[in-house]
Amino acid sequence: MKQRIEKMDLKGKRVLVRCDYNVPIYNGKIMDDTKIVASLETIRYLIKNDCKIIILSHLGKIKKEEDKLTHSLEPVAKRLKELVGREVYFSKEILDPELPKRIELMLPRDILLLENTRFLDVPNKLESNCDAQVSQFFASLADVFVMDAFASAHRAHASTTGITKYIPSCIGFSVERELAAMDKFLSEPKHPFTVIMGGAKVEDKLDLISSLLPKCDHLLLAGGLANSFLKALNFNIGSSLATESNKTINALKQIMLDYRDKLMLPLDAIVGSTYDEAYIHYKRINEVTDNEVITDVGTKTLEKYKKAIAESETIFLNGTMGIYEDVRYSNGTKELFNALKNCKGIVVVGGGDSVSAVKNLGFEDAFTYLSVGGGATLEYLTKGHLVGIDAITEEEEIEVLDV
Ligand code: ADP
Ligand code: MG
Repeated sequence: MKQRIEKMDLKGKRVLVRCDYNVPIYNGKIMDDTKIVASLETIRYLIKNDCKIIILSHLGKIKKEEDKLTHSLEPVAKRLKELVGREVYFSKEILDPELPKRIELMLPRDILLLENTRFLDVPNKLESNCDAQVSQFFASLADVFVMDAFASAHRAHASTTGITKYIPSCIGFSVERELAAMDKFLSEPKHPFTVIMGGAKVEDKLDLISSLLPKCDHLLLAGGLANSFLKALNFNIGSSLATESNKTINALKQIMLDYRDKLMLPLDAIVGSTYDEAYIHYKRINEVTDNEVITDVGTKTLEKYKKAIAESETIFLNGTMGIYEDVRYSNGTKELFNALKNCKGIVVVGGGDSVSAVKNLGFEDAFTYLSVGGGATLEYLTKGHLVGIDAITEEEEIEVLDV
């Protein structure tokens, strides 16, 4: 067990928090503040403990100087101020030698947000390459480090693992929530345990499929993933999205040999066409022709998948049933979400697009847990650990030191 924030002596201390404020910003406006809201429990806890709160986060990728114009965290400071109901100071400078003095002058419960840590990536990738001097500078600003950015925990950056080398560290409430939800699957899932995987590229998901298959009872496939399995079975999938790699096809064949009783593939599909935008047809899965493109699952598939869902005690979903961004092809995903909403089991959804689909299709409060971790969630489920969490002090170690 990693050191939890509640076990730390934080009273009146300078606390550096790594948050995940990688929010969508358009024309300076925050389009979705879910991640800022997710950080509030930790920040309020630090306020209650009279801490001086210094917050770090990245926002997007910074590859060239111009990227900085559209990736400032300043709008986040304003939104955080509204949500938390107190002033949130913002520092445009990150490696400012005056910063320690400024923090010295802060009062207990003051909040200071520093500019996007990835601004340090131009020209020299100081943040992303975990530069030792930058890590040390960050650590020098505080007495304690709180890692509360689950979505960044799969990256060894200066603002994540870097700081942990120099000051005592713990996980925040948001990370604790994510880990607890994920551990339900990694340790002892209640059976039947059903995994539903759809989405685009099978190569991105192969490791996850391989690590979940031994643990689950059913794996329901859809989207580009299912297309790739169908291709490996020599079905004509027309011009649908699927893997082009023979190595992947062979890996899928082996998975089907090893786990044939667990796998479920689509029986039918909604198809579009490569040459006619208006063409939409229903096809059995063995009727797809060369110019057709599988865009969503069909009714027979949904019926079969709903039956498996109804009998399950634990369900994990990653990836959508079809191209949900296009309303003509969002029905399969919507119908499946409805079945998940009404089932008896616990339902956890992980993955960037999957969580977006849940929100866009109106199912925000329908499931047990929506993981905000994106790639980090999938990596944690695949490998069972994350560098950014590994770097945090173990609970026992600090307890021993206390004695
Ligand atoms: P996550 O980001 O949650 O891991 P994915 O990115 O794997 O999920 O899955 C969502 C993406 O998969 C969407 O962009 C969707 O359009 C795409 N997708 C789903 N079904 C298909 C399909 N049949 N053909 C092409 N793309 C698909
Ligand atoms: Mg995605």
